[in-house]
Amino acid sequence: FDQMTGKIWFNGSLVEWADAQVHVLTHGLHYASSVFEGERAYGGEIFALREHTERLHESARILDFEIPYSVEELEAASRAVLKANNFVDAYLRPIAWRGSEMMGVSAQANTINVAIAAWQWPSYFNPEERRKGIRLDFAEYRRPDPRTAPSKSKAAGLYMICTVSKHMAEKKGYADALMLDWRGQVAETTGTNIMFVKDGVLHTPLPDCFLNGITRQAVSKLARKRGIEVIERAIMPEELGSFQEAFLCGTAAEVTPVSEIGQYKFTPGEITFSLMDDYMKLVDPSLEEKKLAAVG
Ligand code: PMP
Repeated sequence: FDQMTGKIWFNGSLVEWADAQVHVLTHGLHYASSVFEGERAYGGEIFALREHTERLHESARILDFEIPYSVEELEAASRAVLKANNFVDAYLRPIAWRGSEMMGVSAQANTINVAIAAWQWPSYFNPEERRKGIRLDFAEYRRPDPRTAPSKSKAAGLYMICTVSKHMAEKKGYADALMLDWRGQVAETTGTNIMFVKDGVLHTPLPDCFLNGITRQAVSKLARKRGIEVIERAIMPEELGSFQEAFLCGTAAEVTPVSEIGQYKFTPGEITFSLMDDYMKLVDPSLEEKKLAAVG
């Protein structure tokens, strides 16, 4: 972090960045009883704040805990964090976890803690690489069967194999890794959903064992608005050679073109760039003013 200063909302109050600490015997740290969100604010407004906050509540319920703040309280807290740090464009990270009262697999009496931090995070992938398209490797780990893991929860524990996969890809010079699912179908990357273009039609994996991302849903709607058909279906890795374009979508990554996945090559094209633009216009209503200011 470049920042390391400013305020973090921590269990109901705004505290100094350095004071937002947890105990080493935190259950969330030992047993991954932790759920989180990733949000972006543009021009002072948090995009899809209601959807993210509701997903945080739902993620916790799936892990058998209830967040002790209402959706409205968390929304107010998120806005308060932005304001306290004087952020206009920022990334927000709400997180909820079981505390440190009891150590063991069972921790039913442990307090539920909630924090919301914010920082400036302009681009998830290298900005120069981004327009040309980023390179993905195939991950070794797969997204688990929903009978094996609570795949609808944005649970910290589900990111363990994402971090390992992303590190392995980065060490080989790739920007990220494409994960297949437990059946061997194309799933998502370590922090985004994925879409493909074939003959003017969007194809995207059915989100039945990974997050149905808020960005993915927004981009699908934007595509349909343009008259582009969106087909959700099982996609096998062997099919990747039949797609002309590929792109990622997620809150942090926004819409990011892909140029390579393993041996398969893609050329970022008209549909990817149009949806990139549409998405930025949707999330950042102040974009036109910013562009004018930059030119003027
Ligand atoms: N899949 C994974 C693994 C993610 O971490 C994210 C980012 N939250 C997504 C998909 C996309 O979700 P969203 O568009 O809601 O940010």
